[in-house]
Amino acid sequence: MNLKTPIGEVAGVGESHRELLAGLGIETIEDLLWYLPRRWDDYSKIVPIREAKPGETFSIRGVVKQIANRRVKNGMYLTEAIVADNTGLIKAVWFNQPFLTKTLHLDDEIFLAGQIEFSFGSIQMTSPSYELVKDDIEEGPTHVGRIVPIYPETAGITSKWLRTKIKPLMKYMYSIKDYLPETIKREEELIDLPAAIRQLHFPENSLQLKKAMERLDFDEMFLLQVTVLNARQNLAKEQAITVPYDETLIKKFIQSLPYELTTAQKKAAWDIIQDVAKNEPMNRLLQGDVGSGKTVVAAMAMADVAASGSQVALLCPTEILAKQHFAKISQLLKSVDIECGLLTGSMAKVEREALLGGIREGEIKVIIGTHAILEHDVEFWRLALAIVDEQHRFGVDQRAALKKESLSTKTLPHFLSMTATPIPRTLSLTLYGDLDLSIIYEMPKGRQKVVTRIVPDEKREDSYGFIRKEIEAGRQAFVVCPLVEEKEDERKSVMAEYEKLAHKIFLDLAVGYVHGQMPIADKDLAMSKFVSGETKILVSSSVIEVGVDVPNATIMIIEDAERFGLAQLHQFRGRVGRGLHQSYCLLSTSSKAEVALKRLNALVHTDDGFKLADTDLEIRGPGEFIGSRQHGLPDIKMKNLMNLELISRCREAAKRFLGKHSLDEYPLLTAKMSNFDKVLNLE
Ligand code: ADP
Ligand code: MG
Repeated sequence: MNLKTPIGEVAGVGESHRELLAGLGIETIEDLLWYLPRRWDDYSKIVPIREAKPGETFSIRGVVKQIANRRVKNGMYLTEAIVADNTGLIKAVWFNQPFLTKTLHLDDEIFLAGQIEFSFGSIQMTSPSYELVKDDIEEGPTHVGRIVPIYPETAGITSKWLRTKIKPLMKYMYSIKDYLPETIKREEELIDLPAAIRQLHFPENSLQLKKAMERLDFDEMFLLQVTVLNARQNLAKEQAITVPYDETLIKKFIQSLPYELTTAQKKAAWDIIQDVAKNEPMNRLLQGDVGSGKTVVAAMAMADVAASGSQVALLCPTEILAKQHFAKISQLLKSVDIECGLLTGSMAKVEREALLGGIREGEIKVIIGTHAILEHDVEFWRLALAIVDEQHRFGVDQRAALKKESLSTKTLPHFLSMTATPIPRTLSLTLYGDLDLSIIYEMPKGRQKVVTRIVPDEKREDSYGFIRKEIEAGRQAFVVCPLVEEKEDERKSVMAEYEKLAHKIFLDLAVGYVHGQMPIADKDLAMSKFVSGETKILVSSSVIEVGVDVPNATIMIIEDAERFGLAQLHQFRGRVGRGLHQSYCLLSTSSKAEVALKRLNALVHTDDGFKLADTDLEIRGPGEFIGSRQHGLPDIKMKNLMNLELISRCREAAKRFLGKHSLDEYPLLTAKMSNFDKVLNLE
């Protein structure tokens, strides 16, 4: 047997267990050794019974003096045992494990481990772990009298089972190859990999366990950092098309705007314009709160590129947004005589072919569209810049697919992503590595704060009265619902609310609805009627979450507001308060739960997306804030992603290493890095 031996050949692993293990991705001995504990119970203190203090966790070693099953109410079984050593007696009880009387017999010498309790004047252990004392004590007990591993469990595979199977396989541990270079291990004073894995399964003591955890946490973050830094170095070797700065053009563009750019917008645009003038590919993230005016910054860069004779593509997450951007950006670029093309999935074939031809030949300079841009047959003659709006809405692979090689120059485009989702600092350092960041840190002048209120169910009528008043003053309203169709639960749906508002509450007003499952033509119609002001109230699902810009809309009701995340609520709210009129956001909720109200209150009291992100992080924890979809990384513990100290330690180590060594000499490390390939495409 060796590391590659199928797990089914290990003694005691039957067919049913083999299948269960396969479900966990465990097929070989090596896989099983890499199946690491989730936590540990410290049963390492073995004490004489007399010294076992209530409230603490101990192991004791004694002889079974009495053991019996008893039937108690509801058909439950209780197993009671008395165990003695030469200092005293202790009682042990287990529930519903009547088979125990067949495992533990009178006069057996056993270990018991668990918390000591005080009950009716004597000490007791409830459901303790137990193990027979064997003569062959060389290896020590497995489940008690030591620090005991607790594995991630699934039905049919218990920690106890895993321990008995893994322990005899410990000897194969030493054939596991250590991928971490010796120099790093020495400099960072890290233990060897086989030793670390061994200590994780069966720790000798808590110090060894700590060292083992340190080693694996280091590995995880080091691999990530080495991968990110290496990608960065490789990117610097690539060539992109240079876009010379055209001052006259940019001035003309700025002068044509109906408003004055904020300083932050100017700075961000200047960052981008300078970057695309270099031949090293730009990799920049433009972060700015909802409504801070990212679109015009992108449009300026687009004008810059198109005027120089190269191409630029803007990728949008929804068709609604693509069309809106197409309309706005076309308008903005008119001042500098640049035309735009719109590419979406719903185009007729002929029309699409013609457009693709124009893109392939380089005639169309500005392409705005949805995922349709990512298709293989969309080829660019001279793509200098690729932009992703609302980048967090795209997967890693999609963002990578936008970096298309130009037909004429065989170069990759400069890359700009835009987002309103603030990312906590530790996370951005880790995930985005040395990525360049431009932040639009201020709102356009004259922007009013959106007045935000929590509206309990009893006050629903007031909200409707308020909507009516705003509409009478010439404004428009959004009503956002968590569901599209009604479900069994209590959540409000677009269709039910639409019926109610259109046919019961606002009979005299034009009410429309829009959601993601509608045919595209219907969606377009609903949106354009709202944009033109024909529809006064738009009932919507979360499709309007990103980007939609209708400055005349001044009031929004968010139904079942507590069901949404803070970041998302903030995005919704960003749909109003875009024009000159005072705007309102009503958070409708029937919840009385403290956490829910606390979150909604955070929204009432701050309009700063960055602060809200922190609050969400505090209240709900990092797991909720950034799901694995968003960080997109395999096998990285959230606790490590949030550990600034670990991040900088590993980053420094990775820098030092790449500075002195070539990765070619470290095939084991490179192989391991390929697990992190996806990071290469993070931006
Ligand atoms: P976001 O950053 O959320 O994408 P948008 O680019 O959609 O924001 O801009 C929000 C609104 O603000 C738009 O209606 C836009 O025309 C307007 N806007 C952008 N920049 C300014 C500015 N400097 N002054 C006034 N209004 C602006
Ligand atoms: Mg936007």
